[in-house]
Amino acid sequence: MSDIDQLSREIEELETAASTYDTRHEFIDDFHYPEGTQIAVNFTCDFDAMLFRRFLNETPMQLAQGEFGGRVGIWRLIELFDSHDVKATIFTPGRICELYPQSLVAAHKSGHEIADHMWEHHVPKDMQLEHDHIQKSTTALEKAVGKRPVGTRSRHTLSLLKEEGYLYNSHGSAAHLPHYLRDDDGENCLLNIPFHYAIDDAMYFNFAWLSSDNAAQRITDPDRVFDMWWAAFEQQYRQGGYLNICLHPFVSGRAQRIEMLDRLIARMKTLPGVWFPTCETVARYCLKAFPPKSGGN
Ligand SMILES: [Zn+2]
Repeated sequence: MSDIDQLSREIEELETAASTYDTRHEFIDDFHYPEGTQIAVNFTCDFDAMLFRRFLNETPMQLAQGEFGGRVGIWRLIELFDSHDVKATIFTPGRICELYPQSLVAAHKSGHEIADHMWEHHVPKDMQLEHDHIQKSTTALEKAVGKRPVGTRSRHTLSLLKEEGYLYNSHGSAAHLPHYLRDDDGENCLLNIPFHYAIDDAMYFNFAWLSSDNAAQRITDPDRVFDMWWAAFEQQYRQGGYLNICLHPFVSGRAQRIEMLDRLIARMKTLPGVWFPTCETVARYCLKAFPPKSGGN
């Protein structure tokens, strides 16, 4: 094959990839909030406790770190959100209903959203088994709090999520604003409420997670994280954007981090037009105000 042929083939492949990307993503160009709202801030908790660590076969010491999230961290976070009238979204594996059901009931009673985070914090490769996991998790969460979840944070197959009545996913970082995702063939459109690892507590406060070695440890000064997250908030606030703060109860449930979050929320509240709804509320607003242009199927 000549160099020209090779180049043409590569360009063709790139064009196909770009067109598939366009089919899969639909961004909301005219995104804005109702009169009087400048920004939505979603506090989201990935309430994994020890399930992910168990799945990775981590040691008892690491499992105990996860356990702290279920015994203490989640309660501290609920108390923090309630004290500021912040409505948070708790993404949780269905099996947490067997481990820490009271915390889910308490969060729901305070007006926080309980959403799916996979049955056991992983997505099976076999599609039938995957569907079974979605159904198990959905049913368990519905039974625990009396309301069927409509949101998920997972890599579950879009068609299966649609089939089970899910309205949105909160995964990935293709844009800083809510947008729509579809399968490669343009089917199964689902709203995505993005987050980013720069606003994820685990990236700053994680110790010995995922079997990481010493060089990978991160115990950041909470004041430094406060400054970075405040800067991210201010930047989004100025442009009428969106912020999704991803917290893990076993990470952010530690006292000095709760104190930092308390200061952060208090400072955000000094500005006008800051909205602290659940992801479900943001999702329902987007679906109504900016429905997908090429249909919702
Ligand atoms: Zn997780």
